[in-house]
Amino acid sequence: MSGPESANDPRRRTIPYARPTLDDRDIDAVVEVLRGPWLTTGPKVAEFEAAFARYTQAPEAVALSSGTAALHAALHVLDLRPGDEVIVPAMTFVATANAVVYCGATPVFADVEPDTLLLSPADVARRVTDRTRAIVAVDYAGQPCDYVALREIAARYGLVLVADACHALGGALAGRPVGTLADLSAFSLHAVKPLVAGEGGVVTTNRADWAARLRRFRNHGIAVDHHQRSVAGDWRYEQVELGFNYRLTDVQCALASSQLATVDERREERAAIAESYARSFADCPAVRPLAVHPHVHHAWHLYVVRLPAAAWKVDRDTVYRALRGAAIGVQVHYPPAHLHPYYRQRFGMLPGQCPVAEAAATDVLSLPCFARMLDDDRRAVIGAVEQVVTEFAWRSR
Ligand SMILES: *Cc1c(COP(=O)(O)O)cnc(C)c1O
Repeated sequence: MSGPESANDPRRRTIPYARPTLDDRDIDAVVEVLRGPWLTTGPKVAEFEAAFARYTQAPEAVALSSGTAALHAALHVLDLRPGDEVIVPAMTFVATANAVVYCGATPVFADVEPDTLLLSPADVARRVTDRTRAIVAVDYAGQPCDYVALREIAARYGLVLVADACHALGGALAGRPVGTLADLSAFSLHAVKPLVAGEGGVVTTNRADWAARLRRFRNHGIAVDHHQRSVAGDWRYEQVELGFNYRLTDVQCALASSQLATVDERREERAAIAESYARSFADCPAVRPLAVHPHVHHAWHLYVVRLPAAAWKVDRDTVYRALRGAAIGVQVHYPPAHLHPYYRQRFGMLPGQCPVAEAAATDVLSLPCFARMLDDDRRAVIGAVEQVVTEFAWRSR
């Protein structure tokens, strides 16, 4: 479809919705590990965990092989049993709910707020039962949820509060960094997320016993890891529970540590793009950016707008195709998690159970927003959106 030549042709190159930014320092850090004795669990894992804990101001950080593994591990330490319920938002990537199912528990989908698409504390409170054990809040697009209200609900019913902070590294709420806002916070280091290791994940927590359990879980449930055994000069090991191979390698940790040094710079760049989009669409009723709450430091992983159906002659998918046709790599985050065939069939989920998320899923669009995005590309996105508004919306002002 697009060979090297057409990819370099400015008229054909699609501007992606997100893209990693690696500089020479990042690459050198990886090469250094490749020349050394440790490829997987060596000294870089502990170094990265310490740096991540410092950055988030969380007492403990544990590296895992993906954000999904991080969510699975975070819920594993709660010792969920069949019949236990965990509340998750309907507006999220499926991995959030899947992690509950991995633990043998039942996901209960709650609705989101229409202006931010963040988990609605009021709807969470309505869905609590005597079987509820935990709440997983998703910091959608990079905006921290209302953790004050969620903590209050968790305290009232004796629930554990987990943050799916896969979008939100670098964010904060009322000065408290993401990573310290819940009992356990899960991050993703996937190639398009705010901190990149290719694939990878982290769990932060303030409980040392949970951190030890997370480390054991990522290594088959074995109490000591390869590095510890090598340092101790002992071959002995004991598996004390069922775990997985969810280890992150030294190669990936070197990349992630190096990227951590510039994570704030990249966030600033995304914030500037978000501000430019917000200014450009301020008077346009057909393109409504999500609200940002006061006291929020937004990580701007995604720049999401809603296209209210009443403002358009065509549906969102027609706008999506028109922008794709104009080489703008827009995306849709997300189809409602509870309406995937798996959740309908296995858990009997039906349309109408989370109406706000279901309505949002028909009108959201994520616009390209990433560090080092060229000014020309940003202007091309704004121009293309203005073009589809002129063509397909009832009113452009
Ligand atoms: C990316 C993502 C995940 C999964 O992370 P991986 O590293 O891809 O496994 C989970 N939840 C949300 C909200 C995500 O965006």
